[in-house]
Amino acid sequence: MTHKINHIAIVVPNLNEALGFWRDALALDLERTEENPGENVNIAFMEVGGTHIELLEPTDSNSGIGKYMEKRGPGLHHICLEVDDIEATMQRLRDHHIELINEAPKTRSEDGVRYAFVHPRSTFGVLVELYELPH
Ligand code: ZN
Repeated sequence: MTHKINHIAIVVPNLNEALGFWRDALALDLERTEENPGENVNIAFMEVGGTHIELLEPTDSNSGIGKYMEKRGPGLHHICLEVDDIEATMQRLRDHHIELINEAPKTRSEDGVRYAFVHPRSTFGVLVELYELPH
Protein backbone atom coordinates (compact mmCIF):
# COMPACT_ATOMS: atom_id res chain seq x y z
CA MET A 1 0.00 0.00 0.00
CA THR A 2 1.23 3.46 -0.83
CA HIS A 3 0.78 6.08 1.87
CA LYS A 4 2.00 9.40 0.63
CA ILE A 5 4.62 11.33 -1.26
CA ASN A 6 7.72 11.38 0.94
CA HIS A 7 9.59 13.89 -1.20
CA ILE A 8 9.90 15.50 -4.59
CA ALA A 9 13.47 16.06 -5.79
CA ILE A 10 14.40 18.88 -8.16
CA VAL A 11 17.81 19.43 -9.78
CA VAL A 12 19.03 23.03 -9.68
CA PRO A 13 22.26 24.62 -10.89
CA ASN A 14 22.69 26.67 -7.69
CA LEU A 15 21.02 26.14 -4.28
CA ASN A 16 21.09 29.78 -3.22
CA GLU A 17 19.48 30.96 -6.43
CA ALA A 18 16.82 28.26 -6.20
CA LEU A 19 16.12 29.21 -2.57
CA GLY A 20 15.36 32.68 -3.87
CA PHE A 21 12.19 31.13 -5.28
CA TRP A 22 11.26 28.36 -2.85
CA ARG A 23 12.25 29.97 0.47
CA ASP A 24 12.23 33.71 -0.18
CA ALA A 25 9.49 34.30 -2.76
CA LEU A 26 7.22 31.37 -1.89
CA ALA A 27 8.04 31.52 1.87
CA LEU A 28 8.48 27.77 2.41
CA ASP A 29 10.36 26.72 5.56
CA LEU A 30 13.92 25.67 4.87
CA GLU A 31 14.48 22.70 7.20
CA ARG A 32 18.19 22.18 6.59
CA THR A 33 20.89 21.99 4.00
CA GLU A 34 23.28 19.09 3.67
CA GLU A 35 26.48 18.38 1.77
CA ASN A 36 26.70 14.88 0.38
CA PRO A 37 30.23 14.53 -0.99
CA GLY A 38 29.63 10.82 -1.67
CA GLU A 39 26.94 11.64 -4.24
CA ASN A 40 28.59 14.95 -5.27
CA VAL A 41 25.48 16.91 -4.40
CA ASN A 42 24.37 19.65 -2.00
CA ILE A 43 20.79 19.36 -0.81
CA ALA A 44 18.25 21.79 0.66
CA PHE A 45 15.20 20.29 2.39
CA MET A 46 11.88 22.11 2.67
CA GLU A 47 8.74 20.90 4.39
CA VAL A 48 5.34 21.36 2.75
CA GLY A 49 2.25 19.85 4.35
CA GLY A 50 3.96 16.72 5.68
CA THR A 51 6.02 16.09 2.59
CA HIS A 52 9.33 17.50 1.44
CA ILE A 53 10.85 19.27 -1.49
CA GLU A 54 14.53 18.50 -1.94
CA LEU A 55 16.67 20.75 -4.10
CA LEU A 56 19.70 18.93 -5.49
CA GLU A 57 22.70 20.98 -6.61
CA PRO A 58 25.33 18.83 -8.37
CA THR A 59 28.90 19.65 -7.34
CA ASP A 60 30.52 17.55 -10.08
CA SER A 61 29.30 17.49 -13.69
CA ASN A 62 30.49 13.86 -13.98
CA SER A 63 28.29 12.58 -11.14
CA GLY A 64 24.90 10.98 -11.76
CA ILE A 65 22.97 14.15 -10.91
CA GLY A 66 25.53 16.31 -12.72
CA LYS A 67 25.15 14.33 -15.93
CA TYR A 68 21.38 14.44 -15.58
CA MET A 69 21.43 18.24 -15.46
CA GLU A 70 23.87 18.49 -18.38
CA LYS A 71 21.56 16.33 -20.47
CA ARG A 72 18.11 17.49 -19.42
CA GLY A 73 18.65 20.82 -17.69
CA PRO A 74 17.27 21.79 -14.28
CA GLY A 75 13.88 20.47 -13.24
CA LEU A 76 12.06 17.52 -11.72
CA HIS A 77 14.43 14.66 -10.88
CA HIS A 78 12.21 12.17 -9.05
CA ILE A 79 9.09 11.63 -6.95
CA CYS A 80 9.38 9.40 -3.88
CA LEU A 81 6.43 7.33 -2.64
CA GLU A 82 6.29 5.69 0.78
CA VAL A 83 5.12 2.09 0.73
CA ASP A 84 4.38 -0.45 3.50
CA ASP A 85 6.30 -3.33 1.99
CA ILE A 86 8.86 -2.46 -0.64
CA GLU A 87 9.44 -6.05 -1.73
CA ALA A 88 5.72 -6.63 -2.27
CA THR A 89 5.46 -3.37 -4.20
CA MET A 90 8.44 -4.28 -6.40
CA GLN A 91 6.96 -7.72 -7.09
CA ARG A 92 3.64 -6.14 -7.98
CA LEU A 93 5.43 -3.83 -10.42
CA ARG A 94 7.28 -6.78 -12.00
CA ASP A 95 3.94 -8.58 -12.36
CA HIS A 96 2.76 -5.54 -14.31
CA HIS A 97 5.90 -5.67 -16.52
CA ILE A 98 7.27 -2.45 -15.05
CA GLU A 99 11.03 -2.03 -15.36
CA LEU A 100 12.94 -1.48 -12.09
CA ILE A 101 16.35 0.18 -11.87
CA ASN A 102 17.23 -1.69 -8.66
CA GLU A 103 16.52 -5.40 -8.67
CA ALA A 104 16.59 -5.46 -4.85
CA PRO A 105 15.94 -2.67 -2.34
CA LYS A 106 18.97 -0.78 -1.01
CA THR A 107 19.25 0.23 2.65
CA ARG A 108 20.48 3.65 3.74
CA SER A 109 22.93 3.14 6.59
CA GLU A 110 22.14 6.39 8.49
CA ASP A 111 18.45 5.73 9.12
CA GLY A 112 17.59 2.28 7.80
CA VAL A 113 15.29 3.53 5.04
CA ARG A 114 14.97 0.92 2.27
CA TYR A 115 14.61 2.31 -1.23
CA ALA A 116 14.55 1.41 -4.91
CA PHE A 117 13.99 3.25 -8.18
CA VAL A 118 11.54 2.50 -10.99
CA HIS A 119 12.79 3.14 -14.51
CA PRO A 120 11.33 6.23 -16.24
CA ARG A 121 10.86 4.12 -19.39
CA SER A 122 8.01 2.42 -17.54
CA THR A 123 6.56 5.52 -15.87
CA PHE A 124 6.03 7.91 -18.78
CA GLY A 125 9.22 9.83 -18.13
CA VAL A 126 9.21 10.37 -14.35
CA LEU A 127 11.83 8.68 -12.18
CA VAL A 128 9.92 7.15 -9.24
CA GLU A 129 11.59 6.23 -5.96
CA LEU A 130 10.01 3.84 -3.46
CA TYR A 131 10.67 4.23 0.29
CA GLU A 132 9.98 1.79 3.06
CA LEU A 133 10.55 3.50 6.41
CA PRO A 134 11.94 1.39 9.27
CA HIS A 135 9.06 -0.20 11.19
ZN1 ZN B 1 14.80 10.68 -3.26
